[in-house]
Amino acid sequence: MPLINTQYDSIMREYARRQTRSRQELEERLARIHEQIPELSSLEESMTGFQAEKVRAAVSQDRGRMAELEEEIRRISEQRTALLAEHGLTLSDLEPVYTCPDCRDTGYIDGQKCHCFLQAEIDLLYHQSHLKEVLEKENFNTFSYSWYEGEDRELMRRNVMEARMFIENFDTSFQNLLLLGAVGTGKTFLSNCIAKELMDTCHSVVYLTAFQLFDLLSRAAFGTGKNTQQNYQQTYPYIFDCDLLIIDDLGTELPNSFTVSQFFLCVNERILRKKSTLISSNLDMEALRNIYSERTLSRIISCYTIRQLPGSDIRIKKKLKPGHAAP
Ligand SMILES: [Zn+2]
Repeated sequence: MPLINTQYDSIMREYARRQTRSRQELEERLARIHEQIPELSSLEESMTGFQAEKVRAAVSQDRGRMAELEEEIRRISEQRTALLAEHGLTLSDLEPVYTCPDCRDTGYIDGQKCHCFLQAEIDLLYHQSHLKEVLEKENFNTFSYSWYEGEDRELMRRNVMEARMFIENFDTSFQNLLLLGAVGTGKTFLSNCIAKELMDTCHSVVYLTAFQLFDLLSRAAFGTGKNTQQNYQQTYPYIFDCDLLIIDDLGTELPNSFTVSQFFLCVNERILRKKSTLISSNLDMEALRNIYSERTLSRIISCYTIRQLPGSDIRIKKKLKPGHAAP
């Protein structure tokens, strides 16, 4: 997802702050060095004088004088290096120190975003996904099949494979996932695995429990106070346009006509915009149909891959075996 203006501005503000900081730091350092080595200033003045003269010589195409001046500049440069070395310093001590030397804290190299800019985007996305801490614990590296037995394990292997395909084809084919299963069968864990892989490749992921989603939407619709409503309405672009929207635990909210209509809006809008959605629920298809209406379910059936997660409550097994990796 392209960054929205406020996100872009906040990253660029950070670059401006870094540049100011490194400039100030350089000025202070240069002042200290010049105090420590007074001879440095006169060398630098001569250097500046010769450089200016060289420019003039170049303009008047006086090649002989240019060669002489180049020699002078080289000589002074050597003297400067030697002088610095006497004081345990090098030329780099006269240069600014950048957080990212590759782009000199501008965020761009030849008009392209620097790797540090992409990292800043990822950090921002993590921050906005509400998932930062949990994804450090719940990802494909910490996923364990040991919580699933027999046929369940085989089913889970297939689900994990499905999840990996979902990630692999994310940029090339439009897909959505509905994960069904009892409480504690690893639905959230699996969706976290997907979220982490996608965010690490710079996709925007928004994770909301169904309760949070409907709470956010109702505040945007009915929020009291101008600012409150405005603030919440800024979340619409995230909900409709983020690369992946995860709606966790659908059915645990208190359903009413508002949540039912908003759920259809979310599902439908995202399908129209070709933006992927991952929904998890403890309910079965029949219960979902009864709550969220036939038209919503038919959108889901036609556009989603539906997977059933096997097994009984892993969280209970985990409690019985403390210290073991989650699920
Ligand atoms: Zn950079």
